[in-house]
Amino acid sequence: MTELTRLANADAHLRAAYGSPELPESSSGWQRFVRTLLIGPVADPISEAVREALESSALACPQATSQTSTADLVELLAKVPRGSQKASLLRTTANWWLTTFGDTDEPDWSHGLDYYRESLRKIRGLGPATVDELLLFVARLDVFSLDRGTLRVAIRHGWLDLPVEDDESQAFFVRGLRDAAIDLREFSRLITRVAEAHCGREPRCDGCPLQPLLPPNGPLNPDSC
Ligand code: SF4
Repeated sequence: MTELTRLANADAHLRAAYGSPELPESSSGWQRFVRTLLIGPVADPISEAVREALESSALACPQATSQTSTADLVELLAKVPRGSQKASLLRTTANWWLTTFGDTDEPDWSHGLDYYRESLRKIRGLGPATVDELLLFVARLDVFSLDRGTLRVAIRHGWLDLPVEDDESQAFFVRGLRDAAIDLREFSRLITRVAEAHCGREPRCDGCPLQPLLPPNGPLNPDSC
């Protein structure tokens, strides 16, 4: 089966189970950035605590966030799950944004994927999957976020082999989804959803939308991812 067929089949099964996913919308690139950093690329409805934080003047633009003390950000984010842990990271990324883009809230990300990937990965507290999630959902660049759940699904279905190579896995998803005319962000949300519901440390394949697409002998490497 080609990668195009595999991904198209998976997309069809996931949409049949979950429908087409809603994508998060925000008023500016900076707002998308903050929101994705705080809660991931989830669509509305969001909790009141998250909404209040996102609407606060301290997070309205990168200059404001940069000029707000970490202590004040901790207080602002106290009701957001794991929010206070991200206060310092928010200030660091606000400074990165100002250095990289100046004071615009809606940059064109014109330096391309590799530049921003390398630059963001230097920030302490931003792992590779989070960086790619930001570049996919905020910058809308051609990259795929390989979080743990996505990797589990991909390895167990034989889409990717262990050890997983970054170039190979990016090529599989980005080229495969583009060739199949599937929106990268929507597919990412669908895979994340099935992984959260079924594909944890122990795969729960019964009733999983992707069960019909398993290899003949069941999940591959079920214990090693
Ligand atoms: S739970 Fe099973 S069928 Fe579902 S994605 Fe994981 S390995 Fe595939």
